[in-house]
Amino acid sequence: MKIENYVRDIQGFPKEGILFKDITPLLNNPEARKKCLSILVKSLNGQKIDKVVGAESRGFFFGMLLAQELNAGFVPVRKPKKLPHETISASYELEYGTDTLEMHKDAIQKGNRVLIHDDVLATGGTAKAVCDLVTELGGEIVQCNFLMELSFLNGREKIKDNPIFVAITY
Ligand code: IMP
Repeated sequence: MKIENYVRDIQGFPKEGILFKDITPLLNNPEARKKCLSILVKSLNGQKIDKVVGAESRGFFFGMLLAQELNAGFVPVRKPKKLPHETISASYELEYGTDTLEMHKDAIQKGNRVLIHDDVLATGGTAKAVCDLVTELGGEIVQCNFLMELSFLNGREKIKDNPIFVAITY
């Protein structure tokens, strides 16, 4: 089974000119999901993880599965004003303007071994902001992993100080 076969291209979503990688077929197939999860887990080579940090919102799906499999905590990183408790925030550049992500201040303790997960690594802005949040709280980033990398956007350059694993490269 090839997990690539469970990602479909949607032309023109969410805007004209964008080719969107849709993972809902992967979420909808238990065998493909298991295969994908096992690829991500194997890439860690048994390294201990205390917390898995998932980026809103598609990073929550496999982020939570990874946390369960690794017996780790799960920490959601969310858009502003979604988290109810005290937060820290990090901003990053978009094509036009900036965006901000937030994380609960008490979600990571100094020295925690952290796995960062999102579905897609595109320009790397999101992943860099998540790395900044984890680092601010004193977490040690063990790996950033993604289901997919759009390599032509060179997003890995922004997070190059950290180990990176990608299941599918485009
Ligand atoms: P970046 O900040 O430019 O690296 O974009 C990554 C973020 O945008 C991730 O949180 C993804 O969920 C989302 N994203 C970008 N491109 C796609 C896509 O083709 N499919 C699904 N999500 C995408």
